[in-house]
Parts: sequence; C-alpha cells; structure tokens
Amino acid sequence: MSFLTSNQIFSWMFRLSAQKDYQTLTHEFLNILQENPQINEASGYEIYNHKRKISGEVIIDERLIRRFPLDFTKEDDIADNVRVSDSAHIIGVVTSDMDENGDFSWSVLTVKGGSGPDRSILVEGKLNASTIEILKHLRGIYQNMVILHDIKERDLLTTLPNRQSLDSRLMQVCQHYSNHPIVDKIQDKCSWIAILDIDHFKRVNDNFGHLYGDEVLLIFSQIMGRKFRYNDFLFRYGGEEFVVVLNLSTQEGAMSVFNRFRSAVEEYHFPTVGKVTVSIGVTHIDNSAMPSMLLDRADKALYYAKEHGRNQVVLFESTPELVAEEYEHSDDGEIELF
Ligand code: GH3
Ligand code: MG
Ligand code: MG
Repeated sequence: MSFLTSNQIFSWMFRLSAQKDYQTLTHEFLNILQENPQINEASGYEIYNHKRKISGEVIIDERLIRRFPLDFTKEDDIADNVRVSDSAHIIGVVTSDMDENGDFSWSVLTVKGGSGPDRSILVEGKLNASTIEILKHLRGIYQNMVILHDIKERDLLTTLPNRQSLDSRLMQVCQHYSNHPIVDKIQDKCSWIAILDIDHFKRVNDNFGHLYGDEVLLIFSQIMGRKFRYNDFLFRYGGEEFVVVLNLSTQEGAMSVFNRFRSAVEEYHFPTVGKVTVSIGVTHIDNSAMPSMLLDRADKALYYAKEHGRNQVVLFESTPELVAEEYEHSDDGEIELF
C-alpha cells in the first residue's frame, strides 16, 4: 500500500460509495483490505454494548461481539476475539506492538457514531507504518459511510432496522431455505416470522399524548432486545408494529419465546401509561415461500389474534380457518406463489 496512485484511491472510493447498504458496504471494504498483499486476513465484527441492572442498583456493562456477517443458521456464533474486545472502546486504529522490522502483526479499526452497533474490523498480516496510515484514512471514510447507511436503514426512535432492511434480510432468509429445505417443520430447527402489534395503541396517544406514546414504543423495542436472542432479527415495521425473524427454533420453542415476550410486555409497568399488551401473528418460513406471502400470513394471524381478544400469539399454520381461507382463495386450490 506504500505507493498509492490517485487512480487507486479513486477506485476504492468509487467501489465503497457504490454500495447500497451497510452489508454490501462492509463486504466491499473487507475485499479492498484483503486485496492488499500485506494483509492476510480482514474480518468484521459488530459490538453491542448493553447496560444491565442487577438487583435494582448495580449496573454492569455487557459487551457482546458478533461476527460479520452473522450466520443465522449456527448456534453460538458469538465471537470471542480478545484483540477486538480489548480495542473496541477506542474510536480509531489500535495496533499490535511493532516487531523488530518495524512491522505490525494486527490492527483493529473501530467505527462508532451510527445508530447501529459499534463495528470493528480486524486486519492481520505484516503491516508496515505507511499501511497503518492508509488504514486510518480508510477507517474514517468507512465510518462516515456506516453512519449514513444507519440513518437510511434504521428507525430513528428505536434504532431498530426499518422496513427497508426487513425486505432485504427476509429475501436472504428465504433464499437460504429454498437452497436448504427443512424436512420436518415441527421437529427441525427453522425460522419463524412474526408481526407484533401493540393493542389499542391509539388510546395511549389519545389519553397521554404522542410523547408518552413514543416512550412506550422505545421501551417496547428495548424489551424486544432483551427477550430475543442475538441471532434473531428485529425490525420496526412501521407505527406500533414490529417484526421478528426468529431463527433456529422448533415450532414449540418459537411459540414459547413469543408467549414469553407477550407476557413480559403485559407484566411491564410503563411509566405514566401503565399496562400495555401486544398481539402477535406468527408463520413458519416455508422452503418455497416468498417474503410477501410470509408477511401476508403473519398479518392474517395477527388480525385473527386481534379479533379473538388481543394479548395473544396466533400461529397461522395451527389456525385451520386461516389455512382453509388461503386454500380457497388460490386458483384450483393450488397454493399461490405470486
Ligand atoms: P389495535 O389493537 O387494533 O392494534 O388498535 P390500535 O389503536 O393499536 O390500532 P390502530 O392501527 O388503529 O392505531 C395505531 C396508532 O398508532 C395510530 C397512531 O396514532 C399511532 N402511531 C403510529 N406511529 C406512531 C409513532 O411513531 N408514535 C406514536 N406516538 N404513535 C404512533
Ligand atoms: Mg397497527
Ligand atoms: Mg395496534
């Protein structure tokens, strides 16, 4: 990297700025780093810092490091990288000690300031001082772009990924299952999609005002963060509606997780507003399903929950009326794909 031409620099900038989302941006950034002969490996991490209250008063900091890209089909994919976790509190570039030749064996580039998690890139190889200088410049540019992508892909109030991010993530999950079909959908661990809609939320706004309504939405998203696992995908779908893609779970497991969440909301005492409940419509992510069909099924299950008393979880597949209704509406009783 020592003898950079302006063509080289412009070509990197062109490649980075051409990326349409955070995922592809990070893949391209890792590619650019890996093309350098001094770099043997470049890997990405996402760092989640949580404050957790223990027995009322004591607050402990918890740091969870996820590998980028997250493999949602693997259990326990939490990364335990000492270099990344030791460097993650510092914005900028942290390097190993210099060896006798004046080279560094690793460097961690940490990016903060977006509404998503902090991100770190671990670069390993035989890096000289001028390469480290270039890494510092590239880190700054990558950080600016990550912040911009976060603004586009995340909801401002809750900082959860927004509906646009759901569309691309759901497409990835569907593609995975069409390539790796699930054989036994009751026993196998597979993925589930749920729409979560706060009950009578309009009354919250009407009785207490929008500001308190917004506070309920924020706390609701924080309960989601605590009750679902690091390898589930959470989104704000719009208004008072949220979506969860729950991974690696049997049907029984999925239903119990959603029910636990539902009762956690029911039991939570929201400041000023008091009690709030949620209705949840769930469907299995079929081998052949299209995202639009999955959202439609989850929405029908949600509507069914609303019609039958709210504050409950309804699974599309175990609601005969819903399954029969879909069958009747398809041509010749065939399942419609488009
Ligand atoms: P249901 O139990 O049938 O879901 O009743 P609901 O009142 O929750 O449903 P409805 O869809 O009629 O109303 C949703 C309300 O959510 C309407 C709007 O006032 C409120 N809302 C949507 N987005 C926001 C937001 O960002 N902030 C606040 N404070 N309120 C919002
Ligand atoms: Mg609604
Ligand atoms: Mg509602």
